[in-house]
Amino acid sequence: MRDHAHLLRPSDPEFDEVGEVELTGLITELLEGLGEDVRREGLVKSPERIERSLRFLTSGYESSVEEVVNGALFAAEASEMVVVKGIEFYSLCEHHMLPFFGTAHIGYVPGDTILGLSKFARVVDVFARRMQVQERMTTQIADALERVLAPQGLAVVTEASHLCMMMRGVEKQGSTTRTSAMRGSFHDDGRTRQEFLEAIR
Ligand code: ZN
Repeated sequence: MRDHAHLLRPSDPEFDEVGEVELTGLITELLEGLGEDVRREGLVKSPERIERSLRFLTSGYESSVEEVVNGALFAAEASEMVVVKGIEFYSLCEHHMLPFFGTAHIGYVPGDTILGLSKFARVVDVFARRMQVQERMTTQIADALERVLAPQGLAVVTEASHLCMMMRGVEKQGSTTRTSAMRGSFHDDGRTRQEFLEAIR
């Protein structure tokens, strides 16, 4: 059973029992290695809490875009641009395992298929809830939506603050990072791209 702990999701009934066994000891060692007394009151339950939290923050490994869009794909009735802006996301930078977070904006011109609007946020979470770099996350969201929607064009823009820059290193508190992926008509046609960029401003 324990061998499969890494396959369990926080929602699985066995997760509490098996999942925590897997990482709690390692997290205890980590805290000790940092010089902490893991027996003091405030920390006694922390390794379990930290594991639970980490499992949630990396639950994207256990989900897939196909699963998320299942049942929410519909026939397109028009080919006007659809823009979903300001989708909040929280991810972990893979270099420091510190959060980076911000918003994602998605636009597309449908081919034959549209996706229920609420699903875009869930597609973003599939890729945000992993160890990531922002550039790759943006590309993966675009690749996945391109695959399931086969749109005429698609754009994904993400804007994020990185705690690894804000809390350590260069300590540039105010800086945000913007990455984008432009596909099809958003790549080829300057006016389509401009319309999208103005819509998300
Ligand atoms: Zn980092």
